[in-house]
Amino acid sequence: MNDAKNTSSEGSAAGSFSPRPLTAAMANEVERLLSGRTRDIRLTGDLLSRFDERSWRQRSKVIRSWMTWVAFVDVLTLALNALLLPSDVALAMVAPACLLPPAAIATALIWRKPRAAAVQRASLLGGMCLILLSVALVGVFAGGEFYERHLTIMLFVATSAITIFSVPLAWTIAIACYALCLYFILQWYNPLMEAGSVVAGTLFFSCGIIATVVARRTMNILAQKTFLLDCRDQRRNAELADANARLERLARTDPLTGIANRRWMMETLEGLWLSGRDTGVVAAMLMCDIDHFKALNDKLGHGEGDRCLVKVAGIIQSCVRADRDLVSRHGGEEFLIVLPDVDEEEAVAVATRIRESVEAAALPNPSSGVGPSVTLSVGVALKSARDTGISLANLQHEADMALYRAKEAGRNQISVFRRQHQAAPSEQIAARRQG
Ligand code: GH3
Ligand code: MG
Ligand code: MG
Repeated sequence: MNDAKNTSSEGSAAGSFSPRPLTAAMANEVERLLSGRTRDIRLTGDLLSRFDERSWRQRSKVIRSWMTWVAFVDVLTLALNALLLPSDVALAMVAPACLLPPAAIATALIWRKPRAAAVQRASLLGGMCLILLSVALVGVFAGGEFYERHLTIMLFVATSAITIFSVPLAWTIAIACYALCLYFILQWYNPLMEAGSVVAGTLFFSCGIIATVVARRTMNILAQKTFLLDCRDQRRNAELADANARLERLARTDPLTGIANRRWMMETLEGLWLSGRDTGVVAAMLMCDIDHFKALNDKLGHGEGDRCLVKVAGIIQSCVRADRDLVSRHGGEEFLIVLPDVDEEEAVAVATRIRESVEAAALPNPSSGVGPSVTLSVGVALKSARDTGISLANLQHEADMALYRAKEAGRNQISVFRRQHQAAPSEQIAARRQG
């Protein structure tokens, strides 16, 4: 079935199945084929190439092991014949029997890796012709009772190949026809057989071989159907993974600003704290809060307030290290920033950059008590490797406290939280608002 197309695609077979995503056209074709009757399934085009690519490895393994075993059994039989049969009979068998091993081994070698379609087909059909001929001629050369016996063995060999080789149906039919013709022709010249017996025997074996070919066809169709079901599963899994990824993205993103939300930040920080349980987390936490944001909303409207939040989120992101620092919208007009592996100097430098950048953006907030444009205050809390007793909640609380102090001190400034044991020349370390 689908011989031409099947073989043409086999030349490109890579030998292993790679679950590349299906194109929309292929997915539609999969559904179309699966919605019809199983017996009507015919793979074509890209789907057929995929099927061949996937089944090649197994097909080649089966063919190679069959070839190897047939060669082995032929040599073994030859040896046993030499021991058990009269020497003239055993000697007569040697020449035709010697045809089989090279044919089988050559075919097995050719099928070790994917080759051009024509080469695969020619090698398999050529190899089978020689193997079947060899088995048949052993009987013809030995004569007597061995004549018919070996022709029957030849048909048995052909049947086993038809049954287990998952090759295109046309190849299977070619093997079956060749075996039956060989049987008929050689039996016709069998001096011990009547013509009627030859015809009857050929018809009898034809029925058996046709049944085998039909079974092979059914197996081919079922293999293709299994492949189609796998394709469907693969596509559904990909869609599910895609939907999950989108949900995951939505669940961790603040819909207004597009940056991470509080939930994601807290989960990430909990992970960070857990992973640093032994070594101790070193990080700075910056809690930023836009000054007099309610006044902006009241004066310019909620829409303008939203636009301001988006811009401030962008400014904050542009001030941190994209590959390591964590930024989230903590709620309302508050942003939480975590800077891993920084000391106080670096943390204050980042906080200052954020504060100055927001101020420099000159976003309007006409009713702010600080000035005509949007400003923010930053509370900084630090955790060094020595601060082993500082929990995530502690640090967050300290950043909140520092923010509160920055607000108390007049806003648009940075405040660093200092613990009791720390030398504290001044908690207010930076930046009076400009102007
Ligand atoms: P302070 O300087 O003390 O921080 O004063 P503030 O006005 O910024 O703080 P307050 O907590 O009084 O007000 C915060 C405002 O933020 C109130 C709320 O309406 C507004 N807000 C919270 N979420 C959003 C939002 O998503 N969009 C807009 N436009 N406003 C929001
Ligand atoms: Mg606030
Ligand atoms: Mg505020």
